Formats: sequence, structure tokens, C-alpha cells
Amino acid sequence: MDNSPENCNVKVALHIRPLSRQERQNGGKECLDVVPGTAQVLMDTHSFIFDHIYGGGGSPSVNMFEECAIPLLDALFQGYNGTVIAYGQTGSGKTYTMGTNPKESSHRGLMFQIMQTIFNKIETLKHETEFQLHVSFIEILNEEVRDLLDSAVLDRAESTDGNPDNPVPCKPPVQVRKATDGAVSLSGSTEVCVTTQKEMIGCLEQGCLKRSVASTNMNSQSSRSHAIYTIILEQKDKSKGEENGNDYMGEEYRCAKLHLVDLAGAERAKRAGSEGVRLKEGIQINKGLLALGNVISALGDDKKRKEAQHIPYRDSKLTRLLQASLGGNCKTVMIACVSPADYNAEETLNTLKYANRAR
Ligand code: ADP
Ligand code: MG
Repeated sequence: MDNSPENCNVKVALHIRPLSRQERQNGGKECLDVVPGTAQVLMDTHSFIFDHIYGGGGSPSVNMFEECAIPLLDALFQGYNGTVIAYGQTGSGKTYTMGTNPKESSHRGLMFQIMQTIFNKIETLKHETEFQLHVSFIEILNEEVRDLLDSAVLDRAESTDGNPDNPVPCKPPVQVRKATDGAVSLSGSTEVCVTTQKEMIGCLEQGCLKRSVASTNMNSQSSRSHAIYTIILEQKDKSKGEENGNDYMGEEYRCAKLHLVDLAGAERAKRAGSEGVRLKEGIQINKGLLALGNVISALGDDKKRKEAQHIPYRDSKLTRLLQASLGGNCKTVMIACVSPADYNAEETLNTLKYANRAR
């Protein structure tokens, strides 16, 4: 595989959601201005340029799939890993953008379109190529990895004692392993074989029920964990395998992963009114987000990228897990989600700065 730095591919998009009804009722004003016909956004005296801007007077959100996801899907079928990451404060539209919670709204986010496209592509290619699809779904909470597809894990929704500070005991956390060749893998996370789009969505729905949610002042359904839904695509070229009588291990076999990441809320712990366990979680969340920002920013730095050891993957579980899918010839898209309301200006500015650094 060609790991030359020239192929490094990180794109950063901004998604501005509309003012919510509540924000309007509270007299909220929009504090972001997209310069017409550009991907530049102005806020007070600040100016930021992204690869794409959706909503808020930028491109319509419907273009997002085409521009952000299609290149990753093409790469996936060519055998290259990819990652789509949604970043932003709680309530900024991360879950809406990704479509990580299919039951939450009628809106179909990127996930649904990605799944649909994968199955459509398989349908047109299945005569020449044999496909196998697996999915895994994990969350990282307090630097601990939990398997959201393990049917043995107690369903929190049913068995919690009502106190969010006493999480239900579940099976031992998934371990992050690093092989001698540098490949990072999860031991103990479930990989479910799926053959239809319905099964693939079913895994997403099942995992969502298990995702840790707890109340903070910002959003009653605030997610404090990073959720990673991974699609693993294996391909075997039918004709070549038969002709050569070999066991498909050469060019005829390809395996690649697409990670879809719905990050925990990026807000400052103070604002969310967090204390005790919540505050501790807030600090851990920020550790992962900080490490991710450092990795993505280092990937955009020619000098650091040429010396792979300067990319600080090891600083958090999140970055270690995504290591094989960030950098090299993997494609990464970060979608920074923001609220346009002046009330959220401080958090929005933080998100713009974070995303700008990643670019
Ligand atoms: P987050 O996951 O970042 O906490 P959500 O995705 O849950 O935020 O979004 C918060 C609320 O705003 C939800 O009710 C969602 O439906 C709505 N919302 C978010 N983005 C958009 C958008 N682009 N257009 C319309 N509504 C949106
Ligand atoms: Mg969310």
C-alpha cells in the first residue's frame, strides 16, 4: 500500500444548523455570516475558511453527501480506509448530520445514505466480486471502550436504578491491542456480519439504545461518549481467484474500514454545569478531543507527517483506535457542527478554531 504523505487527505467542513424554535422564541440572533459563493465564514472580527460550508447561507446540506462521503466510499471500494467525524458542542447537530440515531428524527443523515450507496454498489458489482460486510459499534467513555453490539451487555435503559452516576455493570471493557506491525485492533468487540441494508441499520439502532446518555444543563440527551460505527468491507475478485487457483491473498483480496464517528459534546465542562462524575467525564472527553485535534493538525503539517512518529496517536483511546484510518492514504472528513445563535457564540468560536486548526 502506498503510504506516501502526498496522499494524505484531510478535509474539514462546517455545518451550520438553523436557529431552533426555542432559540427564536428566546430572541436568539444569528452570529455567523457566510461570505456568498465562498466557504468563508465571518464571526465578529474573526474569519475562517473551510473546504465546504453547509447551511447558514453556504451550500445546501443536500450537497454534503456528494462532497464529503462519496470520495470516501469510492476509496473504500478501492481498499482504502476512511473516517467521517462529527465535532461540535452538544445540540449543534452532530447526531443529525451523521444520522447516528435513526430513531431520533425522520431526517436521514449521512449514515443512511452511506449504507444505501454501499448496497447499491455491491448490487452492481456482485457478478465480478464477492463481498462480505461486517459492522462494529463501540463507544469510548472515560477512556474505556464499550461494545454497543454485544447482546450480553445489560441494556441500560431497562436496568438502571435511575441514578446516572451508578452505571450498570457490564462486561469487561474492550481492550485496545497493538500488534508488532503497528496495527491497532480491538479485542472483544463484536463484528456482526450483515447482508442487507436493513440489518446494517438494525445494528445502528440496537447500539444507539445502549449508548450512554445523561442529563446536563445543555441538553437532556447529551451524549458524553464518542461513538464509532465501523463498516468493514471485504472483497474477493471472483474471476482472478478461479483463474489462478490461488487463495485470494494477493491483489484479488481487499479489506477496508470506514469509521463513522459521532464525538461527545465539545463544550466546556463549566458551562454544562457539570460536577462530580459528570465533571470527570467532561475532562476525559476533552482529552480525546484534544488528542484528535493534535493528530489531525499534525497530519496537515508536512514536516510532522513525513516522520510518522511525530503524529501523537498514542495520547488517547480515540486516536489509537482511529490510527489506521487517519493519515497515510486514508481519507478523513471532519464536519464541524455549530449553532448560529449568538447565545452560543463562545462555544461556536471554540469549534471554529478547533476545526480551523484541523485544516
Ligand atoms: P448533537 O448531536 O450535536 O448534540 P443534535 O444532532 O441532537 O445535536 O441536534 C440538536 C437538535 O437540532 C435536534 O433536535 C436536531 O433535530 C436539530 N438539528 C440539528 N441540525 C439540524 C439541521 N441542520 N437542520 C434542522 N435541524 C437540525
Ligand atoms: Mg448527539
